[in-house]
Amino acid sequence: MLPKYSFVIPIYNEEEIIPELYRRLTTVMNRMDGLVELILINDGSRDRSLQLIRDLHQKDPRVCYLSFARNFGHQIAVTAGLNFVRGQVIVILDADLQDPPELIPDMVEKWRQGYQVVYAQRSQRLKEGRFKRFTAYFFYRLLKKLADVDIPTDTGDFCLMDRQVVDLLNSMPERARYIRGLRSWVGFQQTAIRFERDPRFAGEVKYTFSKSLALAINGLVSFSIVPLRLSTYLGLVAAVAAIFMALLVLYWRIFVPNSPLTGFTIILMAIFFLGSVQLVSVGILGEYIGRIYEEVKARPLYTLAEVGGFYHKSSNSTKNSDEYQMSVGDEGTK
Ligand code: UDP
Ligand code: MG
Repeated sequence: MLPKYSFVIPIYNEEEIIPELYRRLTTVMNRMDGLVELILINDGSRDRSLQLIRDLHQKDPRVCYLSFARNFGHQIAVTAGLNFVRGQVIVILDADLQDPPELIPDMVEKWRQGYQVVYAQRSQRLKEGRFKRFTAYFFYRLLKKLADVDIPTDTGDFCLMDRQVVDLLNSMPERARYIRGLRSWVGFQQTAIRFERDPRFAGEVKYTFSKSLALAINGLVSFSIVPLRLSTYLGLVAAVAAIFMALLVLYWRIFVPNSPLTGFTIILMAIFFLGSVQLVSVGILGEYIGRIYEEVKARPLYTLAEVGGFYHKSSNSTKNSDEYQMSVGDEGTK
């Protein structure tokens, strides 16, 4: 029997959390009105996470898993999970219990009312560092201003999606996967459900500052070309400033005897100003061109080392199955 619900959970070095995660999820799963499959994606963990996941799979047939051959990052891990879901209703949540699974029945209720996407919006971030809260706050508002689609503020990947939406996401070939943006991009009926974000249950944050920054740039570049236009504007400003300076220098030359601001200073200033404008513009261009380069290479999004469960896809559930490798490669590059 095919499951009705699929819960997709990316896992990267979460050995301390997996038992508690499973415990809280089973309570929720047992209360659902249909069969649930739990898809755990091991994103190249270096601790005992994979072993724990295998054990869960042995113990509970509802647990399926994918294991990457290396760390590919959170967004790709979620993407892989979405490629494999079989349910009608899909829920994405973090492994660290910052996204309370107990919220899922409420989300399902909204789905019953006819919403295809129910995303969880954080009303509070308990015990997350001030720096993270501030940068996140600022970033979500900047993104909302710049992006072509309306990406709601303070929402992460914790959400419920209808099968229809997930099929659309799966048909998008892009590599720069900013899932919360793509999710808004598809449209349909979307609604929010507010929640207070708990602190991480245990372990370290897996999103380092540089990973968060990369995700933020990714979001901006994938959903807005305003930064490109910015260099045009900067160029225009520089041109106006240059004309103004030229006039100023002429004025000084003709009307102000021995003006100290002519000569060296002004030339240096102009060089620095233009130089920085040009470098910033080239950098912004580079971000977009780099992205084009990444996309045209069209490598698969991830490589799988091991798959457990998903029995309907093949008659035996062999691990390291080539069949999966193929199908995943195809989906990744389609
Ligand atoms: N994660 C992952 N791959 C990574 C980093 C994180 O699969 O390279 C997972 C991690 O295990 C967790 C989720 O992504 O389930 C969110 O990570 P974390 O809680 O560290 O980040 P936060 O969103 O809380 O800043
Ligand atoms: Mg977290």
